[in-house]
Amino acid sequence: MENSSCEFRPRICALHDDEVSAPERKLLEAHVALCPACANELRQLQALARLFAKSRNTLAPRSILARLKWEIAWKDGLKLARTLSIAAAVIFAACTVWIWYNQPSNTPELPASSLSLRSDSDGDDPVVQVMMREYGHD
Ligand SMILES: [Zn+2]
Repeated sequence: MENSSCEFRPRICALHDDEVSAPERKLLEAHVALCPACANELRQLQALARLFAKSRNTLAPRSILARLKWEIAWKDGLKLARTLSIAAAVIFAACTVWIWYNQPSNTPELPASSLSLRSDSDGDDPVVQVMMREYGHD
């Protein structure tokens, strides 16, 4: 019975891909010779590699390649649009905050006496005359 949870099994792929040191290679090869699960794993990886090697020379039809290129360009465009949208939102928010904090402080309130017509005005003031005309106080 094969032991599918062998502690060496995660390293079998590295052995197959030649991503192990020489001492580890010796250790793993010795283990594979004794462990059916790891030997089976290595055989499956080798079969998969042969399958990929055979299919490497098979070209996809031009229409599929063109469509893939178009879809990749489209997705890149979407990523760019998303990035630009986020950048625009950040700039907009920063400008809003800047404007909020840099708006002129509340205009100082004018004294009430300056807003009311002086009762002692003799009516010579041209501004008062215009206002009186505008508001129908001839
Ligand atoms: Zn094993």
